[in-house]
Amino acid sequence: MKTLISSDVRLLANLIQEGKVVIFPTETVYGIGASTKSELACLRVYEIKGRPKDNPLIAHFHSIESIAAVCELGEVGRALLERFSPGPLTLILPKKDKSLFPKDLDTLAVRIPKSPVVREWIELSGGPISAPSANLSGRPSLTKLSDVLRYFDRVVDGILVAEEPSFGIESTVVSLVGMHPTLLRPGSIESRELLKLLPDLRIPELTSKNENQAVPLSPGTKYKHYAPTARVILASTEEFIESFKTMFQSKSMAWIGYSLKGNEPDAFKEGFGKQSFGDDDRFCLVSSNEDYASKLYAFFESCDMSGVQSIFCEVPKPGFGEEGLRNRLEKAASA
Ligand code: AMP
Ligand code: MG
Repeated sequence: MKTLISSDVRLLANLIQEGKVVIFPTETVYGIGASTKSELACLRVYEIKGRPKDNPLIAHFHSIESIAAVCELGEVGRALLERFSPGPLTLILPKKDKSLFPKDLDTLAVRIPKSPVVREWIELSGGPISAPSANLSGRPSLTKLSDVLRYFDRVVDGILVAEEPSFGIESTVVSLVGMHPTLLRPGSIESRELLKLLPDLRIPELTSKNENQAVPLSPGTKYKHYAPTARVILASTEEFIESFKTMFQSKSMAWIGYSLKGNEPDAFKEGFGKQSFGDDDRFCLVSSNEDYASKLYAFFESCDMSGVQSIFCEVPKPGFGEEGLRNRLEKAASA
């Protein structure tokens, strides 16, 4: 199959209207999308990814009004979208238009991506567009066009070329269905921000322990996500520095964290002196939690490509950006 790789939103919107599958960048990660109005097209997304059928998709919209037209948004939902959208917030809402995918659910996950180009594409396609992350099921999400091409060129019908993801981890998911609003998946929009508008927000422990719960809060939380093939070791700063100092010569190890800089062993300076950390596949230096999240999945991907066996990840810094990042790292480390 020939894949149309283009920044022409009209051409790629036509593909969605024809029931085809198109990959597109969002501010979080790449998505693999099909018309929410076409069950057949959505089912092809599952097939391409190898995604379990009981894990529903997020529908992507271009505006709040287009969400209100097909879901029961309510005052709280509207206030949340007005505050955080367009952006990395997904709401689970009661569905008004029962014909939308997935037809067997009374609820719909909705989100408005940040990029104006992507919103224009969704609007031109007649929207909404259902999309999970563009990766093979069970693998980390992709955040680089080069990685998307490696997996999906000649597999999907189109790839929209637009601004690369910058947040790097998947959206925050909040359910507004049921007695209390509930945080289903932490992300870049943090619970303390949500609590200002949702004082009764339930925040379950969404770390690895969740994997074993009998009834998952969100269908997706029972599946393993976010983990590369390499073993992920979440290390305290002390353990991280120690591992770096003692094991950096092993080609089967890799490191991502803050403390690479300033803690280089002498032998490192001699052997790797001319390279900066960012230039070497096995060392990824980050400057903030946001920078960490934005580099994490691409680093996992490049480690797997180069056959690295173990990846040491330094714990995130307390404060802004910690919540979603820590959740993904804990999941990856427990996989
Ligand atoms: P992703 O797999 O990265 O596309 O993330 C989508 C997340 O939203 C998964 O955890 C899904 O289980 C969850 N989700 C999508 N639709 C619904 C829904 N109607 N109710 C509850 N969770 C949903
Ligand atoms: Mg995913």
